[in-house]
Amino acid sequence: MLKELRTLNELKDFVAQIKLKGKTLGFVPTMGYLHDGHMSLVKLSLSHCDFTITSIYVNPSQFNDASDFETYPKDEVADLKMLEDNGCHAVFIPQREEIETLNKIQVDLDGLDEVMEGEFRPGHFKGVVEVVYRLFSAVTPDKAFFGQKDYQQLMVIKKMVDQAGVPVEIVGAPIVRESNGLAMSSRNSRLTKEGRLNGGFIFETLQSFSTSNLSNVERNLAAKGFELEYLETHELNGEKRLFIAGVYEGVRLIDNIELRA
Ligand code: AMP
Repeated sequence: MLKELRTLNELKDFVAQIKLKGKTLGFVPTMGYLHDGHMSLVKLSLSHCDFTITSIYVNPSQFNDASDFETYPKDEVADLKMLEDNGCHAVFIPQREEIETLNKIQVDLDGLDEVMEGEFRPGHFKGVVEVVYRLFSAVTPDKAFFGQKDYQQLMVIKKMVDQAGVPVEIVGAPIVRESNGLAMSSRNSRLTKEGRLNGGFIFETLQSFSTSNLSNVERNLAAKGFELEYLETHELNGEKRLFIAGVYEGVRLIDNIELRA
């Protein structure tokens, strides 16, 4: 039975019981409108830890675009059902007023917040660090699970945890894709049916990429109606990856793949 925790006190009581029993706690932070990508993290947490809490909280401070925040999709009833069906133990759905009572921190992200998402979404990672630190301090998990879909975010969280000395293990998980290769995202619901069916070209672009045909690639993306923000390789955490972001049918989408030597 999924336990609904809507206040810090309810959360504290639930976590205290777990710790009292000497059991381990896994945590999956999300912004809701859940899909199989989120569920892969829940399942991973269930396989690593005795208890799993998923949070649903759309954090205003990480949105640099007010209309993106306001139109972020929501369906709490469907989210609760999906969590229950997948065996998640509890869901934490806090109010903004309570979250904002918690201490926040700022960390030096060593330039990681100046490229890609950091460059195109000013202030985004500051907001992410703020909210994830607050959630960690409230939930006090042993392990927390993040998708490689937001690979740069995963690196930012690892840096934050190291610098702030938060006693939690960060576990990254592979990207879950639609059958055409489009990376699953809550934002995909804002695409037209046709756009969602055709959206596999983003993953195909990553798979067939080589620097020698960059201008061709850019032209092809533009012809498909994809307004490219960046398409670039970065070596992060000893892994070389290719990252893409852009706007398709008015929806901002990101994706990345590992580049094997
Ligand atoms: P969000 O609700 O978009 O903030 O995502 C919550 C968590 O789910 C983050 O750690 C994301 O990286 C992860 N996630 C979102 N989409 C996917 C996906 N398609 N595959 C794997 N993880 C994902």
